[in-house]
Amino acid sequence: MTIQELRNEFPQLGRSVYGKPLVYLDNAATSLRPRSVIDRWTHSAANSTANLHRAVHRIATEATEAYENARDAVAEFIHAAERQEVIFTSGATHALNLAAFGIGEAFIKPGDEILVGEAEHHSNIVPWQMLCERKGATIKVLPVDDYGRLRIELLPSLLSPRTRLMCVAHISNVLGLVNPIGEIAAACHANGTLLLVDGAQGVVHQKVDVQALGCDFYAFSGHKMYCATGTGILWGRRELLEQMPPMFGGGEMIATVRWSGTTYAPLPGKFEAGTQDISAVPCWGPAIEMLRSMPDATEVRDFVYDALLREPGVRLFGTCSDLSRKASVFSFTVEGAHHEDLALILDKMGIALRSGQMCAEPLMDRFGVTGMLRASFAPYNTMQEAEYFISSLRKAITMLK
Ligand code: PMP
Repeated sequence: MTIQELRNEFPQLGRSVYGKPLVYLDNAATSLRPRSVIDRWTHSAANSTANLHRAVHRIATEATEAYENARDAVAEFIHAAERQEVIFTSGATHALNLAAFGIGEAFIKPGDEILVGEAEHHSNIVPWQMLCERKGATIKVLPVDDYGRLRIELLPSLLSPRTRLMCVAHISNVLGLVNPIGEIAAACHANGTLLLVDGAQGVVHQKVDVQALGCDFYAFSGHKMYCATGTGILWGRRELLEQMPPMFGGGEMIATVRWSGTTYAPLPGKFEAGTQDISAVPCWGPAIEMLRSMPDATEVRDFVYDALLREPGVRLFGTCSDLSRKASVFSFTVEGAHHEDLALILDKMGIALRSGQMCAEPLMDRFGVTGMLRASFAPYNTMQEAEYFISSLRKAITMLK
């Protein structure tokens, strides 16, 4: 697919804002949706709406088939050993909280430790803090260096006999750096520590094979990888998921309900209580197809990386010598210019990007900043857009000085 053919698949790219063509560089927050996903979504809503699994009628069967086919598509996409290990959620946040509840109840005791990366999104910090509070456990932090790289060399000293779990992003939503999950998994498992990976950004930029990665849990959202909003996945190894209690009780997640007590449904039903997003979940298939057919976007990534590094007054976070370990996610500050002022000026030029703490306040503290600007690219962003972004940024900086 050429980039123009790809762009034609995303209706929102045809929009303008303030009379300027939209340059959408906020893909790490949420990507845009292709026609195939929108069509699947509206098709389900218009034609195949019925509750899942329950009724015997034709439409319920259709809706259930579409829902369960999506599970097969996701299982194949992340190379899960079994389809039952794929749990549908409303997003990465829901998946991480579901994991935190179940892991907490099944595996965490008072005095245990949970090791968390310093560059994590709040969704991969707060659920662990809540769990520690509930269970009397403690959080420890694996720090990053001045470039934003995880200090893996500290793992042996931070992993103690009490460390039950480590939680880390595959790719940081601020730094865009690919963390060495294989190496972390080996260190964790040698210590008897479970490893949970927040794959909200990883799944977009890396080919994910959960078995090869060696992690125990992998969580991600659909909306960042071109799927419908309100979709997400928790993948976990079967023997762990089976030991974990569900977070929500209700319809569909039970085997039997008596006043004397309830038994739970086998995986994955145990973790999918209540009516699910019947229209959105079937969009996983077309979203995965779209992700797989996207052209390589390394030329734009390399250009923006070099341009920001060379730009006077710009401080780029998450630098590395090997750009194969860097996703097209660029967070930076500008000397003497507030990130929000710059974002507002760029918005008037048609450029949508993110400003603020990026849901990673501890990382902002680490670098001594109150916020950053973030430009995050998708394969549908062109070189012309990248050049326009750099020249517009330059103009905006001059306006504020
Ligand atoms: N983790 C990371 C690394 C993210 O980038 C995000 C989304 N910004 C999340 C977790 C949370 O995802 P969601 O808001 O889709 O639940």
